[in-house]
Amino acid sequence: MLLVTGATGQLGGAVVSFLLKKIPVSEIAVLARDAAKASKLKEQGVDVRVGDYHNSESLEKAFQGVDTLLLISSSDFSDRLGQHKRAVDAAKKAGVKHIIYTGVTMKNYQKSAIAEFMGQHFATEDYIKESGITYTFFRNGLYADVLPMFLGQDPATTGVFIPAGEGKVAYVVREDIAEALANVLTTAGHENKTYPITGSTLYSYADVASILSDIYGKTVPYISPDQPTFFAALKAAGVPDMYIGVTYGFADATKHHHFEEVDPTLEKLLGRKPLSLDVYLKSVYGK
Ligand code: NAP
Repeated sequence: MLLVTGATGQLGGAVVSFLLKKIPVSEIAVLARDAAKASKLKEQGVDVRVGDYHNSESLEKAFQGVDTLLLISSSDFSDRLGQHKRAVDAAKKAGVKHIIYTGVTMKNYQKSAIAEFMGQHFATEDYIKESGITYTFFRNGLYADVLPMFLGQDPATTGVFIPAGEGKVAYVVREDIAEALANVLTTAGHENKTYPITGSTLYSYADVASILSDIYGKTVPYISPDQPTFFAALKAAGVPDMYIGVTYGFADATKHHHFEEVDPTLEKLLGRKPLSLDVYLKSVYGK
């Protein structure tokens, strides 16, 4: 039995869709904190178990009879490491044999502006290792899917306005990560492995602006403002402070080259090239 957490979310939901094409539905369970959100999965025959990373008892119950657990990192930032630790403890108590965890890949993350936030992923990995349970770590690069959040709805008018300098990222599409996870969940040979999951090409924001220029048929400028200018502009646009801080943190980590890594593992796991950023951005902005 496989159990996928975060299955009411985008990555977990996509993993379950791929799994349904590969293995009998009777082998698939999911964790949902709100059963109603997983009603479509239930209709398809998936075993929906209710649990919350904040509640150990609910997790222990949900993980009964599970052999392999896909632990998707939490999107709830209050005591995120504690949430993950509770999930690992519950897995151990329930006799789970293998945990696949989705973290992050970053170079020298400790020196980045988002060290504390990203450190939670590496601390979770350490905790899983200490539990003695067989592991597979998916260290995911930045999702291409979050780029539109940074670019805004109409970059043709606003330009690409982000303080990321000349830093580059090998963006990876969420759907490709999900397919690779489903492949790993249904094949052997991934025990105690750590997989950096990145796209196959590095892109600067100048490159992103150039792709957008091709899509729109006009020049889309790239502006890398200083911190006060960036904060003032986003505040004036009504963006909440927390979101401004998070966006700045990721942009600064990009500027200082913490995401500059290209690794062939995703291509190997997929048996094909990952989707390129050009194609992805065309699907979002080319309509
Ligand atoms: P998502 O769509 O926000 O899904 C997050 C999932 O976590 C949802 O199913 C959510 O349940 C569940 N969850 C949140 N708090 C929980 C709790 N206390 N107990 C149990 N489940 C809980 O995120 P995603 O796009 O699928 O991404 C998966 C994870 O990757 C995120 O959670 C985040 O840690 C990380 N991430 C990475 C990147 C990147 O660029 N690499 C970008 C964004 C996020 P509900 O449906 O009930 O809310």
